[in-house]
Amino acid sequence: MSGCIFCQVAAGEIPATIVKRGDGLIAFRDINPQAPTHVLVIPAQHVPSLNDAKDAQLLGRMLVFARDLARETGVAERGYRVVFNTNPDGGQTVFHLHLHLLGGRAMQWPPG
Ligand code: 5GP
Ligand code: ZN
Repeated sequence: MSGCIFCQVAAGEIPATIVKRGDGLIAFRDINPQAPTHVLVIPAQHVPSLNDAKDAQLLGRMLVFARDLARETGVAERGYRVVFNTNPDGGQTVFHLHLHLLGGRAMQWPPG
């Protein structure tokens, strides 16, 4: 979708540190990391938010992708967090579906 920053990342139109690609998904490092490992996983295709995601298989693939990425980036054993911020109260700021994979430090609960 034109004007969508993550569509531009997916198209290679703006630079990003791509960590993994495949299965219609792209993982890249967050520009403002909140943990030593902070990777975003997005579908190449534009979907605004979890509320709009009709494709259960896509959501499943995103989770498997993040789980595998956690292993590949070395955070799986100690642990990590997967987050879908959704709409304003959920803290979503970029309206292209993405999950955050956060690891490399102990997380707090409840989240802010
Ligand atoms: P949200 O707040 O929507 O859940 O997450 C959006 C995330 O995208 C934020 O953590 C923010 O740091 C990250 N972000 C915003 N713009 C860019 C960008 O241009 N490049 C990268 N790599 N990350 C971005
Ligand atoms: Zn988009």
